[in-house]
Amino acid sequence: VSRFTPSSSDALKNKVILITGAGDGIGREAALTYARYGADLILTGRTESKLRAVSDEIAQKYGITPRVYCHDLLTLTAEQCRDFAAVLAHAVPYLDGVLHNAGILGVVAPMTEQPPQLWQDVIQVNVNATFMLTQALLPLLLRAPQSSLVFTSSSVGREGRAGWGAYAVSKFATEGMMQVLAQEYAGTGLRTNCINPGGTRTAMRAGAFPDEASEKLKTPADIMPTYLYVMCNDSAGKNGISFDAQPGRKAGPAE
Ligand code: NDP
Repeated sequence: VSRFTPSSSDALKNKVILITGAGDGIGREAALTYARYGADLILTGRTESKLRAVSDEIAQKYGITPRVYCHDLLTLTAEQCRDFAAVLAHAVPYLDGVLHNAGILGVVAPMTEQPPQLWQDVIQVNVNATFMLTQALLPLLLRAPQSSLVFTSSSVGREGRAGWGAYAVSKFATEGMMQVLAQEYAGTGLRTNCINPGGTRTAMRAGAFPDEASEKLKTPADIMPTYLYVMCNDSAGKNGISFDAQPGRKAGPAE
């Protein structure tokens, strides 16, 4: 999976894929990569200028202009999610894929020093907003002949590690959300999986490990095979799996 290459440059042609946090880091790279294989994209994120820049780059390189919707997951309500889904339902027949990629780190600090408000913000963005968006988008996913719902996990979402506080807890919740949905829709055309990107050279990573040698980290482009695999028909039938984009990578700072 981590070495997957689509069999054709049209592998995602006519597939409608929504990506959250598409303005930067891994989400931005996923948008460019899916567009390269022909996907019709819906890009969401918090900073409109970043989303427009990604959309313009895709339009220029691949001749397809993604739709852009700006919303802040920190304040997003269930009603706004439903309104968003209704707007989408007018624009597209269904969704072939949703990549929940947006997330925040909070602070790397022991439990006693995790600020309660920041804790709530991390859970709000990484878990609650992700759940509300999923709930609103499920009907559009279920309308597709085959669809792929993907959540973004982390190594600290599978095994707790000192200092990772709210972020680790939010990623455990993400793994749980994926497993519940995978069971609920087993046997339907909808598959639900997670990707653990593994340490990847982005702004979030630099915030978590400011002193590491970032040039030793994989780039977002390096981990795209797994991101492509989960959205291509090759992964049809794979359900309830937490994939590693960098299998065998030891968690912690780059060495
Ligand atoms: P970045 O910080 O580089 O990008 C995160 C994206 O999420 C940005 O586009 C950001 O928008 C968006 N976002 C953050 N908060 C909100 C919000 N409130 N509302 C809407 N959008 C928001 O992170 P990465 O690319 O590194 O991370 C992507 C995912 O991968 C995350 O879920 C992260 O937890 C996970 N991950 C990353 C690892 C790594 O080493 N990089 C390792 C393990 C997991 P904006 O650009 O406007 O800030």
